[in-house]
Amino acid sequence: MRPVEDTYRHKGLRKKLVETVRSKGITDEKVLQAIENIPRHFFLDSAFDEVAYEDRAFPIGEGQTISQPYTVAYQSQLLEVKPFDKILEIGTGSAYQATVLASLGAQVYTIERQRALFDQNKTFAYLKRFPSIKFFFGDGYEGLPTYAPFDKVIITAAAPDIPPKLIEQLKTGGMMVIPVGAGEVQLMMRITKLPNGVMKEEVFDKFSFVPMKEGKKN
Ligand code: SAH
Repeated sequence: MRPVEDTYRHKGLRKKLVETVRSKGITDEKVLQAIENIPRHFFLDSAFDEVAYEDRAFPIGEGQTISQPYTVAYQSQLLEVKPFDKILEIGTGSAYQATVLASLGAQVYTIERQRALFDQNKTFAYLKRFPSIKFFFGDGYEGLPTYAPFDKVIITAAAPDIPPKLIEQLKTGGMMVIPVGAGEVQLMMRITKLPNGVMKEEVFDKFSFVPMKEGKKN
């Protein structure tokens, strides 16, 4: 069961979480504000109520996880989200990251490859507050050619390589934030599509994501 109440206790725990995330190096105040505003415990089963505001990943079913708040903040900060940015997210999962991006004013197109997780979000009432998020069931490696190009692309699963179709769907001047690596640990990368056609690659810190897999799972 999902919790439905956002109490003063939850709000207080969120303030502490924001300070933790800030102390780990996140400086974007808008991102920090989004973390403070969004009731993360709504995205988890009520069994996690006591721990929902620890800076940790938690299981959300189907062997997948809701990312650690620090990681969500880190990727969001690297994306330099501006109001009305059109963002493609690969790996909807709990939809927590998608709501953080929507809170920053983005139009979010998010893809999940696991039917069970995609279906869970259909009945998640809190998401009704975010009409700027569009949910898709599909293989993120394909992207969403019908809706391309995007200002930004964010991948929230570990990619062994940079998916070429997603680079194609990026606008000129657009950016992709992606954890790259085939093993347990990945490097966060930011790829910028420069006007001269060159891909600028920046490498940031190490993270550990669940793997990005090919194809859909019904
Ligand atoms: N952004 C999520 C993180 C979920 S974990 C959150 O905020 O909770 C990563 C998710 O990526 C999982 O749900 C997994 O099923 C999904 N995934 C993995 N490979 C994928 C692919 N090729 N296309 C779409 N989703 C994928």
